[in-house]
Amino acid sequence: MTEKLIDIRKNLSKKLKKERFEHTIGVMYTAASLAMCYGEDIEKALTAGLLHDCGKFCPAKEQIRLCEKYAISLSESELAMPALIHAKLGAYLAENKYKIKDREILDAITWHTTGRPAMTMLEKILYIADYIEPNRKIIPGLEEIRGIVFQDIDRAIYLSAKRTVRYLEDGGKSVDPMTVSTCEYYKKEE
Ligand code: FE
Ligand code: FE
Repeated sequence: MTEKLIDIRKNLSKKLKKERFEHTIGVMYTAASLAMCYGEDIEKALTAGLLHDCGKFCPAKEQIRLCEKYAISLSESELAMPALIHAKLGAYLAENKYKIKDREILDAITWHTTGRPAMTMLEKILYIADYIEPNRKIIPGLEEIRGIVFQDIDRAIYLSAKRTVRYLEDGGKSVDPMTVSTCEYYKKEE
């Protein structure tokens, strides 16, 4: 790991809650393993994993306030579902506070919560690493996804997006249209 990543890791260990930080490290190394499997740049995967939830250093209300301050535009559905906001805020902080200039890494952070159709390999890796990292508590379907992700990442994405849509619907929560698009796109790729 580079000096820069070690410094960012130290900073995040102070800024994030203990469980959030452990999740972050889990995502970082899971993303690196997937990068090894799929021929993606390992350093980029580590960086994206390490910073993916950096926007979660403060509560949702504060995240919204910071988005206003930094002129980050939020969609209707993001304002209705504050759990999504940390992705855009995180990409902004990754670029401007942690000085990550690589567009691919910043895009992967931006889309890690909802996914999107036609993702780059790095985007796919971060999206699914967030879902399967070892600290995640077991939910129905997770073991199946973990079992196939190193053979068929597109199918793993489809199954996790489908699961997310169902989970939100069952809980009577609204679903971001982009999550639905991700699910539909990767279903076609089956
Ligand atoms: Fe996240
Ligand atoms: Fe996460």
